[in-house]
Amino acid sequence: MESQTKVCQNCKQEFVIEPEDFAFYEKMKVPPPTFCWRCRFQRRSAYRNERKAFFNTSLKSGKKVFSLYSKQSNIPVYSDEEWYEDDWDAMQYGRDYDFSKTFFEQFHDIAVSVPHKGSSCEHGNLRSDFVVNSDTAKDSYLVFNTSAMEACAYCNASHRCRECFDSTNMNDCELSYELFLSTKCYRTHFSSQCIDCTNVLFSKNCKGCVDCFGCVNLKNKSHCFFNEQLSKEDYQKSIAELRLNTWSGCMEAKKTAHEFWLKFPIKYIQGVNNLNVLGEYISNSRNIYMGYLVQGADNLRYCQEQMFPGAKDSMDISVWGSPSEICYENAICGYGCFNSKFCVECWPQNVNLEYCMFMENCSDCFASFGLKNKKYCIFNKQYSSDEYKELKKKIIERMDSMPFMDKKGRIYKYGEFFPAEHSPFGYNTSVVSDHFPLAREQVLKEGYNWDDVERTEYETNTDASELPNSINDVKDDIVSKLIACYKCKRAYRIIKAELDFLRQEGLPLPRLCVDCRFADRLSQRNKSQLYHRKCMCDKKHAFHAGHCENEFETSYAPSRPEIVYCEQCYNSEVA
Ligand SMILES: [Zn+2]
Ligand SMILES: [Zn+2]
Ligand SMILES: [Zn+2]
Ligand SMILES: [Zn+2]
Repeated sequence: MESQTKVCQNCKQEFVIEPEDFAFYEKMKVPPPTFCWRCRFQRRSAYRNERKAFFNTSLKSGKKVFSLYSKQSNIPVYSDEEWYEDDWDAMQYGRDYDFSKTFFEQFHDIAVSVPHKGSSCEHGNLRSDFVVNSDTAKDSYLVFNTSAMEACAYCNASHRCRECFDSTNMNDCELSYELFLSTKCYRTHFSSQCIDCTNVLFSKNCKGCVDCFGCVNLKNKSHCFFNEQLSKEDYQKSIAELRLNTWSGCMEAKKTAHEFWLKFPIKYIQGVNNLNVLGEYISNSRNIYMGYLVQGADNLRYCQEQMFPGAKDSMDISVWGSPSEICYENAICGYGCFNSKFCVECWPQNVNLEYCMFMENCSDCFASFGLKNKKYCIFNKQYSSDEYKELKKKIIERMDSMPFMDKKGRIYKYGEFFPAEHSPFGYNTSVVSDHFPLAREQVLKEGYNWDDVERTEYETNTDASELPNSINDVKDDIVSKLIACYKCKRAYRIIKAELDFLRQEGLPLPRLCVDCRFADRLSQRNKSQLYHRKCMCDKKHAFHAGHCENEFETSYAPSRPEIVYCEQCYNSEVA
């Protein structure tokens, strides 16, 4: 089939459906999409709350639950342990399909009736009460979307780390602080996109470095200070002069380093070991088209946050992988998800699901919510294999003859993901605002929800600006203080493990609250939007005379200050 240009139902912009896309839709037996890929990504993201948690009450026991759902959301919540108990069965919420109502309306009805897993954690978290979307956390506090974290706090989208604080998109790191998108680092602080580094500070895109400060694009170096080779003694002297144990010294170093980083070329795409990929933050992958935050994946189109290796042959899946194959329009599905479409939070081991949420070990289910070990269910009711096929076919036909229309007049037939307005999360609570930030007014205008959740506001007794400048002057009683964030004035505290860590590393107390620190780190991450640009290299390279003519798609907007190079020029300068 030839490529076709369509107008997106959501943003009203033209988008192209490529021949490869049509082949996939045919294989999945779905009609071509009516939203463009970024609007599809935006719609799925509305169903992912990664790190905003609330105190709620279990509908089962009345116990206090640390939950992804606020009380105001009216979503019935069980604690995760209670959800896994077998003294209840989501089949009790089963119902017949009502052919006089739209499909999405009815799905929304069942979705707000069945109890939700409060913090969406798996079994096996130890002494880690305040974590969400995490498994096998040990002695950790406020970690979100993590696995196998030990003695960590304030980290998100990170895995297998020990004693790390305030970091995002980090794997296999230890004793590190304020890290972004880094792997296998040890005692590496305030750094970005580093691999295999030890005792590295304020550095970017370094690999295999030890004892380096403020460096960019270096490999296997030691005692480099702003990319300059120093002797060990001079290096130590230079670091000592910066007084990194003080807030003022640390902030000055950060500013200087970030300005220094801008002087060095960056590759048009951030990632390594790829074959035939297009997108941003992609590594160890092949045949990825319009990917964003993808690792160890093969043959994906329009997929995001596939940071666990093992996603394959899929389109439009957001969050997870590990493994997931032949899937379309899923959010937060993994640990074995095969041939499934339009699903949310289905893990582990699910096969042939459509329009399902929170399913475990199920196969051949349609429009069901919160089931375990089931087959041939529709709206949480059991059917025989033949009845299942027959009824599913009828419902799909009805979805087309009586589609759902959302608040803004967008039409939802079979083949559309769930409408964003049915998400239990507001735009500002879900990750959609990380990827597509919009002001409240615009959010409401576009027909999304906004959470005006009243957060518990604690009375503060210390202002961040009054904190001791040096960590050496901090008294032990700081852990009992409620500090007002320097920026948003909301209360935050310093936990004992954090204080011990900062003292050990000689770093000052943070003056921003957990959310403001996260927002700060996230501002380092480019969005998924790609821009067509030309290589900025005007150096003498054998393959070009004068300015390099190579063009590419990059997430660095033309207005940005970074120097962006094509792969060839970048490798000539940096490799
Ligand atoms: Zn669009
Ligand atoms: Zn704040
Ligand atoms: Zn070039
Ligand atoms: Zn060049």
